Amino acid sequence: MTSTSDTPRILVTGAGGFVGHHLVEYLKKQGAWVRGVDIKKPEYSQTSADEFLLLDLREKHNAETATAGVDRVFALAADMGGMGYISSHDAVILHDNTLINTHTLEAARKNGVQRYLFTSSACVYPEERQEITDLAPLKEEDAYPANPQDAYGWEKLLGEKFCQYYRQDHGLETRITRFHNIFGPQGTWDGGREKAPAALCRKIATAKLTGNHEIEIWGDGEQTRSFCYVDDAVKGLHLLMNSDYAEPLNIGQDRMVTINELADSIADIAGISIIKKHIPGPQGVRGRNSDNTRLKKVLQWEPEVSLETGLRQTYEWIESQVQKQLES
Ligand code: NAD
Repeated sequence: MTSTSDTPRILVTGAGGFVGHHLVEYLKKQGAWVRGVDIKKPEYSQTSADEFLLLDLREKHNAETATAGVDRVFALAADMGGMGYISSHDAVILHDNTLINTHTLEAARKNGVQRYLFTSSACVYPEERQEITDLAPLKEEDAYPANPQDAYGWEKLLGEKFCQYYRQDHGLETRITRFHNIFGPQGTWDGGREKAPAALCRKIATAKLTGNHEIEIWGDGEQTRSFCYVDDAVKGLHLLMNSDYAEPLNIGQDRMVTINELADSIADIAGISIIKKHIPGPQGVRGRNSDNTRLKKVLQWEPEVSLETGLRQTYEWIESQVQKQLES
């Protein structure tokens, strides 16, 4: 079904989550009509979606309800979290995300959706390409021969293939991005699913507010990553959806830092000195960075917000959350 007016009708799945919530805000500012779908409402502020449906997309009939009457789908819903979660929930992640993606894509096809964007991940890249800290940035073609570290990455690869075959066999215009560590305010910052930037902001805010400046870091902290601010991520999604490019495309920053450097930057923003205590814990691959050659060529754009600017926004928001928690 197509919209009857010029206003695009857009579904964002996972709209109760971190990136989905920010994407809904962005699309509303662009003038779209937006339906958000998730199993939960956004935790930290009201959604700006025109309609928000609480639906479990592991169920086929819910996916059909979710995709009815929309022109475009941003498929963000997923069972996911930081390394602590991903490395210890392989079976449930594979099960849930396969059902979510299979049902949402098929329902979109049945309902005549015109464009469908799937959010894949840098976790698809093979483990053996990421065994050193100072590795070459990952190009899209590096994904094969495939050997992702966890079930989360295997499922994302399958989701990518689903999109490519639905485009080939059914003519559904699909778009695929591979996100590299998106961070920002209003993301999960405690409870076990939080990722490294949010976890470190929480630990450093707690250190500042309690006066105990020792913070725990999983491993030696020399593992490397690049981090992309959420405003850039949603802009990249919007540009990719509107582009003609149907192959997987990295969206991430290409500035690699160690986890120790990330912690030091956050401590600088907090205005405290910290004592790092290195403890055993899941670390994921040893190094990972985004090669943005194709991104720049295809979208004539790349992420613009510096790590320091993004971390400041994120830290200030998480410090206010920790403050509230300590007072309650
Ligand atoms: P998030 O966990 O904050 O959001 C995902 C949302 O999906 C959650 O709100 C969750 O409730 C919802 N969901 C889970 N199961 C569902 C179900 N059965 N039915 C309906 N909704 C369900 O994650 P995010 O950081 O916003 O990530 C968005 C997307 O981008 C995900 O697909 C994720 O795999 C992908 N991604 C994110 C990053 C990152 O750094 N944030 C990196 C790579 C890929």
